[in-house]
Amino acid sequence: MRFSGLRVITEGLTGNRGWTPHWRDATPKDAYDVVIIGGGGHGLATAYYLARNHGITNVAVLEKGYLGGGNVGRNTTIVRANYFLPGNSEFYSHSLKLWEGLEQDLNYNVMHSQRGQIALFHNDAQRDAAIRRGNAIRNQGDDAELLTPGDLRRVLPYLDYEQTRFPIYGGLLQRRAGTARHDAVAWGFARGASDRGVDLIQNCEVTGIDIDAGNVRGVQTTRGAIRAGKVAIVVAGRSSQVAAMAGMRLPIESHVLQAFVTEGLKPCIDHVVSFGMGHFYISQSDKGGLVFGGDLDFHASYAARGNLPMAEHVMEAGMTLMPMIGKAKLLRSWGGIMDMTPDGSPIIDRTDVDGLYFNGGWCYGGFKAVPGSGYSMAHLVATGRHHEPAARFRLDRFLTGRGLMDEEGTGAQHNLH
Ligand SMILES: Cc1cc2nc3c(=O)[nH]c(=O)nc-3n(C[C@H](O)[C@H](O)[C@H](O)COP(=O)(O)OP(=O)(O)OC[C@H]3O[C@@H](n4cnc5c(N)ncnc54)[C@H](O)[C@@H]3O)c2cc1C
Repeated sequence: MRFSGLRVITEGLTGNRGWTPHWRDATPKDAYDVVIIGGGGHGLATAYYLARNHGITNVAVLEKGYLGGGNVGRNTTIVRANYFLPGNSEFYSHSLKLWEGLEQDLNYNVMHSQRGQIALFHNDAQRDAAIRRGNAIRNQGDDAELLTPGDLRRVLPYLDYEQTRFPIYGGLLQRRAGTARHDAVAWGFARGASDRGVDLIQNCEVTGIDIDAGNVRGVQTTRGAIRAGKVAIVVAGRSSQVAAMAGMRLPIESHVLQAFVTEGLKPCIDHVVSFGMGHFYISQSDKGGLVFGGDLDFHASYAARGNLPMAEHVMEAGMTLMPMIGKAKLLRSWGGIMDMTPDGSPIIDRTDVDGLYFNGGWCYGGFKAVPGSGYSMAHLVATGRHHEPAARFRLDRFLTGRGLMDEEGTGAQHNLH
């Protein structure tokens, strides 16, 4: 079933009776060439690119709940490529290029909207850092523009420029950054993978990983044992738990991140805007809700819901930056489980078990990575070699301390022994 403008009009005029399910709800077979644990964005994209780029279709994606019920459907949908450090910058640059052709590639409307992201800065030191970051982004081949307070007043008239505590000195704009409809991304990749022969198996929790003489043999699930030549762990917030099934102890902690949405309003926020003096960022969805988020709850947890102190903290930051937000009614809030690494950068790598691969540690920035991660992970699983843009996402950097990518500058501490 292909989508097109003509098809939408025809279906609309004929009672929408011609649409078919987007993917087959498969039942598990006894064995597959590749089993992917986790039906989130990264797992589905890995399956899609395994089939599309490498012709590997005897693949199952095992999802313990429903497809897209994890972080891929819980994030604040920001897509950008404004990373600073080598390793991250080329990876996210590659991912953004994939985003730019994704809808045509998947024949699916993921509502990718390149509305621009503006990261505000509030003092001289932050301005210097923004210029440095902007130059690095441009050297990488992506776009970055420095905005003066005068520029900002024209494009973001609703900010509180008069506040004395955190005066706004300017902003760094990436025009190609923006948002996408998160669950449509999961559905689009699911449909593309299923169309190519991949089995998508929902309500199928992996409970064990079978290893024999250092080789992976398959998995145990709530729907029986499944043999596999290769197994990929792609479970984001549950990474530590699933990797433990293979005897691995990961340098990952799971933390809750919350997001909030208001009632639908007329269009008032055209960009994605982030505050430089607190963890607050905002955009407006196509339905009109103001979508915003803040920082982690700051204690390890597997509860996919947040707590009130962080909600208060986020509201305070929002009111400081744009007091107009105080007039909007908050409609919903939710939480997701973030797979936090010590240096804030992800992992796409082999493990010490032959045939067992790991993808995770996306922290709170893995939505924008979905196409790039799936592409690179599929390359690694299919060829056994690292895909160049993701070549630095090695697991052993946390063991050796070499190649750490502390993008946030928050200072990872590694006690080797
Ligand atoms: C509030 C919030 C805001 C965010 N905002 C942004 C943003 O603006 N931009 C951005 O780039 N990123 C953002 N992120 C981060 C991004 O959503 C995640 O990094 C990314 O979605 C994680 O990868 P995933 O989609 O594969 O994860 P998930 O969708 O969580 O997929 C993992 C899947 O594995 C399944 N699973 C777990 N254990 C098992 C098992 N034993 N057996 C079978 N299946 C299992 C889970 O059920 C889940 O469906 C945000 C996250 C949150 C929570």
